Amino acid sequence: MASERLQAFTPHHNYFIGIDSDGCAFDTMELKHKECFCPCFINVFELQSVSKYAREAWEFGNLYSQWRGANRFPEVLMCLDWLRQRPEVQRRGTRVPALPKLAAWIKQETKLGNPALQRAVAATGDAELAWVLRWSEAVNAAVDAMVRGCAPFPGVRDALEQVRGKADCMVVSATPEAALEKEWAEHDIAQFMALIAGQESGTKKEHLTQATSGKYAAAHVLMIGDALGDYEAARANDALFFPINPGHEEEAWARLVDEGLRKFLDGTYAGAYQDTLVAQFKTYLPATPPWQVSTRGE
Ligand SMILES: [Mg+2]
Repeated sequence: MASERLQAFTPHHNYFIGIDSDGCAFDTMELKHKECFCPCFINVFELQSVSKYAREAWEFGNLYSQWRGANRFPEVLMCLDWLRQRPEVQRRGTRVPALPKLAAWIKQETKLGNPALQRAVAATGDAELAWVLRWSEAVNAAVDAMVRGCAPFPGVRDALEQVRGKADCMVVSATPEAALEKEWAEHDIAQFMALIAGQESGTKKEHLTQATSGKYAAAHVLMIGDALGDYEAARANDALFFPINPGHEEEAWARLVDEGLRKFLDGTYAGAYQDTLVAQFKTYLPATPPWQVSTRGE
């Protein structure tokens, strides 16, 4: 099992830093979601006649809300639910699938990735799960064909160099591990990482638990992320959190390099400093879709 690798990890340093990949270290979120995930969502789930609304739902759910960076499978359910509720979609008579079998699978499976879904399809022969698997495989193929040359945000390499020899660093991501290894190696920053953990190794919360629990002192574990799920994974592990604000990523990395890492390593990060950063971060990640806000105002 992939997660045993994390549990078996032995610290080399007194500090640990988990770093999310998409949208945090790498400037890939816009490209992946707008050019790969969303076109496959529209095409595979037969949403052509409501593509404008499908795109709006996908981009809000995955890029510009508190669900930014969440696992792809719950995102599909949520975006389909939003679509089904929209009067514009109902007026067009488009059949938006509800996918109850996917909902059930999500409830009982913790490793929400293609390998587990392939096993579920093989075990049950369920047509709905097979449909979702076709979408997920189409997404992976599209990402593989489309995503290249996307560099890490300016400042990432500086940050990694700054903590080299002081902290064990791990990629903590909901992306498939093969894609992570390709991207981190392509830009020559895999060398800074002790571990690379993706969706096959469980959730981000599980990654942090398995790699750090009982291995580091309090306030010696920091998670860097661009989504609320990253923050929650950190909190669930009593880890510190540094936010990379969506749309302001360069400034965030500069702040981490200029002051955040120093505060983490000298023990002055927790408390007021972290609280201010987190409060600012949350303003970038709303819970209410814009189409619901504008409907209310009419
Ligand atoms: Mg992210």
